[in-house]
Amino acid sequence: MSTKCDSEAHCLRSFDFPEGGWECSTCSNYNFKGRKQCYRCKKDFSQNDMQGKPKHMLMQDEEKAALKASKILARKQRNFKRNKQRE
Ligand SMILES: [Zn+2]
Repeated sequence: MSTKCDSEAHCLRSFDFPEGGWECSTCSNYNFKGRKQCYRCKKDFSQNDMQGKPKHMLMQDEEKAALKASKILARKQRNFKRNKQRE
């Protein structure tokens, strides 16, 4: 029994994909760097296959950044209103 992960979902989320791999455009399987064929569907690597980390992982980072930015903006707007009332 492993105590490393709280749950399977958490474990999958925190799994770090190695750099330089590619995502299969047919089955969305993530393949390690240097693979010439998809591990899952055996499709040959082509220009259509995405380089780098899977898109859904990049999306997650963008969403996190957007959330952070919106929180900062909300705080700035609150401060702005407060300053205006004081004047
Ligand atoms: Zn594939």
